[in-house]
Amino acid sequence: MNETEMRIRNSASVPPERCVFCQIIARKLPAALVYEDSDYIAFMDRSPFNEGHTLVCPKKHGETVWDMTEPEIGGLFALAARISKGVIKATNSDGFRFVQNNGEAANQVVAHVHIHIIPVKLEEKGQWMDRKPATFEQLQEMSVRIKNALGI
Ligand SMILES: [Zn+2]
Repeated sequence: MNETEMRIRNSASVPPERCVFCQIIARKLPAALVYEDSDYIAFMDRSPFNEGHTLVCPKKHGETVWDMTEPEIGGLFALAARISKGVIKATNSDGFRFVQNNGEAANQVVAHVHIHIIPVKLEEKGQWMDRKPATFEQLQEMSVRIKNALGI
């Protein structure tokens, strides 16, 4: 098996027309958007692990980082680093996690490459995180706070 034939198993695999993130990118599904350019998009996770939990995705459909070129992967992580500053400012957090899951075994739920930016506070150090329900209005309010913090 050569490198281009290697695949990661994911039962959540769907064609782009049924992909939730592609539908968000095409504005067929709502999302609280934080950032968008010709190649990437960032929006609030609808079941956040913490207030401010943001997802950063390439617009081009691909399941894992193996479906991206190295410059595309670099661009994705560079953007996530930039967005993380707004997330930290908007939530007054002390640190953040990047979580980037590839494949079902890694708990990848949406089979479209994405980086989770999860802000954390010092008092949460070492704690297990659970998803916290949020209303769409709360997510939108947070997306505005992050955009303001980024000056965009
Ligand atoms: Zn997709």
